[in-house]
Amino acid sequence: MVSATMKSEILKRYREGKLAHAFLLETDDMDKCYEDILDLIKKLNCPYEFKDNCDQNCNICTLVDTDNLPSLIKIEPDGQFIKNEAILSMKNKFSTIPVFTKYNIYIIKGAHKFNGYSANSLLKFLEEPADNILGFLITNNKENVIPTIRSRCQIFNVEYNKTIFDKIDDEILLDVKLYLNSIFKNKNDLLYNKTNMSNFYKEREEWEVFFMTMLYYIKDCLDRERDDKIDLVRNMSNGNLVKMLVLIEKMLKYIKSNVNIDLILDTFVIEMREYYE
Ligand SMILES: [Zn+2]
Repeated sequence: MVSATMKSEILKRYREGKLAHAFLLETDDMDKCYEDILDLIKKLNCPYEFKDNCDQNCNICTLVDTDNLPSLIKIEPDGQFIKNEAILSMKNKFSTIPVFTKYNIYIIKGAHKFNGYSANSLLKFLEEPADNILGFLITNNKENVIPTIRSRCQIFNVEYNKTIFDKIDDEILLDVKLYLNSIFKNKNDLLYNKTNMSNFYKEREEWEVFFMTMLYYIKDCLDRERDDKIDLVRNMSNGNLVKMLVLIEKMLKYIKSNVNIDLILDTFVIEMREYYE
């Protein structure tokens, strides 16, 4: 769930043309993170509309799935360490421009397992970044990654075994509160959705995080005396707050089943009107 943030953030930067040359992903599940990166690579390069999967069985996605994409290199420790030969061979292959994709992409699983030689080779590579090369370094502990490598990467935390309830993003919570207050004040029209929310997030996954955060916040307001209760919460009985939780869960289901986001937001505002006191 939380990993959705990493993927949508990278996708956003990709579309804005502001991608870092290398990402360091610290995760509590390297295998899942690795699968997620492969998924992201398909999503970045698939010529068709890619939702949870490629529905066209396209060439690019098939090449990724069958481990045959020439512009993708996967590196893992060989024995105890990542071998220098692996990095040198990657550099050599990536001296040509990518054929099927915009970037030559490498994934290093176990970025805390460099020895002096392989670390040096990668560092030289990171110090002179080519525009068409993109790297994903996966580790279970960024503190164990050589600092000079770490400092040249953009770092993301990708957690799978923590739920959103353990790790709420304050900025998103602020957006949620602002939204709830606004629809509470403007409950007679749907203009707020149209003017302010319609393009608030680009990715469906971001909307999922938004509504998950809302779910967390309302649940927490019910469970304990939060000192940041917004007007909408103060104006609703506990019974109606529980109904609101059910409503939010319904919205999350709609998001997952690809219902149009504008329609979801309007449905939410309309159904919420029932619950204000
Ligand atoms: Zn595809």
